[in-house]
Amino acid sequence: MKDYEKTFKEFKNYLKKIEYLNSTEAVLYWDMRTVIPKQGVPYRGEVLSYIGEQKYKLLTSDIMKNYIEYFEGIDDLDPVTKACYLNCKKEYEKQKKIPKDRYTAYVLAASESEAVWEEAKEEKNYEKFKPHLQKIINFQREFIEYLGYDKDKYNTLLDDYEPGITVERLDTIFSQLRDAIIDILNKINESSVKINTDFLMGKFDKKDQEKLSLYILHKMGYDMDRGALAETMHPFTIKMGSDDVRLTTHYYENDFRSALYSCIHEGGHGIYDQNIDKSLYGTLLSEGASMGIHESQSRFYENIIGRSLEFWKCFYGETKKIFPQFNNVPLMDFYKGMNEVKPSLVRTESDELTYSLHIIIRYELEKELINGRLSVDDVREEWNKKYKEYLGVTPKDDEEGILQDMHWSDGSFGYFPSYALGNLYGAQFLHKMEQDIPDLYSQLEKGNLAFIKEWLNKNIHKHGSLYKPEELIKLVTGSELSAKYFIDYLYKKYSKIYNF
Ligand code: ZN
Repeated sequence: MKDYEKTFKEFKNYLKKIEYLNSTEAVLYWDMRTVIPKQGVPYRGEVLSYIGEQKYKLLTSDIMKNYIEYFEGIDDLDPVTKACYLNCKKEYEKQKKIPKDRYTAYVLAASESEAVWEEAKEEKNYEKFKPHLQKIINFQREFIEYLGYDKDKYNTLLDDYEPGITVERLDTIFSQLRDAIIDILNKINESSVKINTDFLMGKFDKKDQEKLSLYILHKMGYDMDRGALAETMHPFTIKMGSDDVRLTTHYYENDFRSALYSCIHEGGHGIYDQNIDKSLYGTLLSEGASMGIHESQSRFYENIIGRSLEFWKCFYGETKKIFPQFNNVPLMDFYKGMNEVKPSLVRTESDELTYSLHIIIRYELEKELINGRLSVDDVREEWNKKYKEYLGVTPKDDEEGILQDMHWSDGSFGYFPSYALGNLYGAQFLHKMEQDIPDLYSQLEKGNLAFIKEWLNKNIHKHGSLYKPEELIKLVTGSELSAKYFIDYLYKKYSKIYNF
């Protein structure tokens, strides 16, 4: 046993206190989103803010400082201890750099801004939200000054969600992706193939939808003995511990696709969280490697697997048993219906192809806002201009335009790119998976999803956040992140569907 191992054990006991608070927070949050009575919300807010304070104290204490300094002085740390202390060091320094009173002021401003955004969205009135957006941007810019930045101010925000990624790289990757998607979109617009989706709208009983969703989740390998599925307005996944990872969905009885795909998506997040190696508990590394890597897992299941022809060759039979109205719909029509491309205004309702364009638009605008090159007075016009240019659509009001997402209201600048990065990581993982499992598609056609989960468990999930995203993608696929794999995947898929 190395000398430092005893100290690391003590350190883990200390970090566990933070994990317990994370778990407490998750339970309270889950409850707040699912069953809390409306009148109970303000008090719950107080409790959550108290827990946040306790976490802050543990993260920035002298005890934490002493542990970090101790491990800093040792050269031959094993990878887990090293990643653990470096992670804590980064968080400690970050928290210390921002004056506490300014952070408290920001939290207050953000919760106000969120509330105003909700009203403004309902009233379709960007002008109402505008001063709050300005406030939030000012806070972000102030914090960037405290934290420092390298080359581009936006890099500091990206680091919160996707450590290691920079504006320089995203500019290259996203412009390649944007041009490719627009090219495919043009080809689809010229195509004579017309896809019918009428049969996907109608009446789909909620209970039946739930039955199919649970069946598919089970087949994917989401462990219901260590999970749950509840209903919320906006679906999410939440981890309360390694043996308690819960999902939510929302059922629309007139739409077959919505709940099913949100379940598959959240199931992908859930399978990730359920399969992080248990030895990482107590190190704060039992999280996903980044938002983008997490999103790669949900989008992998949702799109690459869940919208593939092989998947439906296997599961269409069971689907028809639950929904006999599909009995007259041939498999190929059903499959094409699930993959219809239709440029739309709302990100969360967009198809697999155009989804990334919604993200790229937000990325391009955020970067300019944070660097002070675009003002809150001009951003709406710029938003509408980009939607017209990239997607060929124009919002009729602010609700389906600039006010559609809550991210800017609560200060989550730098978050959006993770969604599109998830698509890129996912396709790059697929490329490697195809090499490792030569009969991937024939297995999938048989409904054997277990081997996919095993591959993801072994290569990605078990590591938690032991590796940074750039290290992980290299470790798993042998190469750096590239847009090439996803672009190839898109051309291959849509040229078959739309005959170009
Ligand atoms: Zn997600």
